[in-house]
Amino acid sequence: MNSKTKNAQCKRCLGMFKEKEIYTIQQLQYRKSPSYQWTREFFDVLEIGEWDSFCESCMNYHKKISHDIWMKYCNSI
Ligand SMILES: [Zn+2]
Repeated sequence: MNSKTKNAQCKRCLGMFKEKEIYTIQQLQYRKSPSYQWTREFFDVLEIGEWDSFCESCMNYHKKISHDIWMKYCNSI
């Protein structure tokens, strides 16, 4: 394994990965719901910004929890 090619770090799991494989919450602006504004506010509470880097599995985790909480929010109003 060549560590030189892995120079990006995931904010959540602290794992190292290739820079071109960075995921950020900005990628969530293309999903239908919740809105990107809601998504940004949600991650703001978790102290996660638009420029924080995540690996693919941690991004999938954040994508899922934000959607799950959005669904609970929708069912509570
Ligand atoms: Zn990660």
